[in-house]
Amino acid sequence: MFNSLSDRLTATFKNLRGKGRLSEADVDATVREIRRALLDADVAVPVVRDFAARVRERALGAEVAAALNPSQQVVKIVNDELVAILGGETRRIRLAKNPPTVIMLAGLQGAGKTTLAGKLAKWLKGQGHSPMLVAADLQRPNAVTQLQVVGNRAGVPVYAPHPGVQSEFEAATGDPVGVARGGVEEARQKLNDIVIVDTAGRLGIDAELMQQAADIRAAVNPDEVLFVIDAMIGQDAVNTAKAFEEGVDFTGVVLTKLDGDARGGAALSVASVTGRPVMFASTGEGLEDFELFHPDRMASRILD
Ligand code: GDP
Repeated sequence: MFNSLSDRLTATFKNLRGKGRLSEADVDATVREIRRALLDADVAVPVVRDFAARVRERALGAEVAAALNPSQQVVKIVNDELVAILGGETRRIRLAKNPPTVIMLAGLQGAGKTTLAGKLAKWLKGQGHSPMLVAADLQRPNAVTQLQVVGNRAGVPVYAPHPGVQSEFEAATGDPVGVARGGVEEARQKLNDIVIVDTAGRLGIDAELMQQAADIRAAVNPDEVLFVIDAMIGQDAVNTAKAFEEGVDFTGVVLTKLDGDARGGAALSVASVTGRPVMFASTGEGLEDFELFHPDRMASRILD
């Protein structure tokens, strides 16, 4: 992911090497190249516009350390601005004062929510927590069983309506809000300090799905709502994120499938467009392919 963006930006910076001082024309030419590289990587248009304007303003201003040469100055400015659009500081999970901390997952079907539930649970367990998964996705017949498999692999308990709901009828008539509430109650009683609630996703944005997610949110009052988005979905990422922001609202973003070779820029825009930070990154199908998202490290990786 981001290989081509990375190459394009590096090539742009190379053109500045050896220049003693940047003229306004140099800055404009550089900003134009950066803008094109970002647009070609699928970064959303308004994000690119603001980004380019800020880089131009700062590159023309004298605010950067005099010790850096012009090319290094531009790299530093682009780096800072990339960190900013990715949410700035690394954002960690906010733990509830009175456990359990409730983390709700939302996103389209196939985004990687169920897989993420297992990864997050395993990671939290490794940090000394005792998480429980809650299977409140009753839309997809297999979702409950899939979460149980993931929970087993992560070595954490799974609260489910009936073990392995299989029939579509049963799934469609289940009560996801009741399951979510029951899961949180069970965690409180069993002293699991973190509850991760998996919710239903659809292939497209859908009013009923949004309402269900909003109802679950209202019922369990989560400390974090993580919007899970497949970094490969391209330009749809921004519209999908906005729809979830309006429909459910969320506190953080998780980018999945960062191991893919898509352009990924749209996913990079999500934090900037919604004002919610990227908190985690998922980079493969295995439970260990998961990391806390550090905007500064991602920016360095892109500019490397
Ligand atoms: P859900 O519908 O949102 O619960 O999505 P799933 O967790 O079922 O994931 C959908 C598919 O994407 C599955 O085949 C997962 O193995 C795969 N998947 C999830 N996360 C990643 C990832 O980070 N990288 C890759 N390559 N595949 C992933």
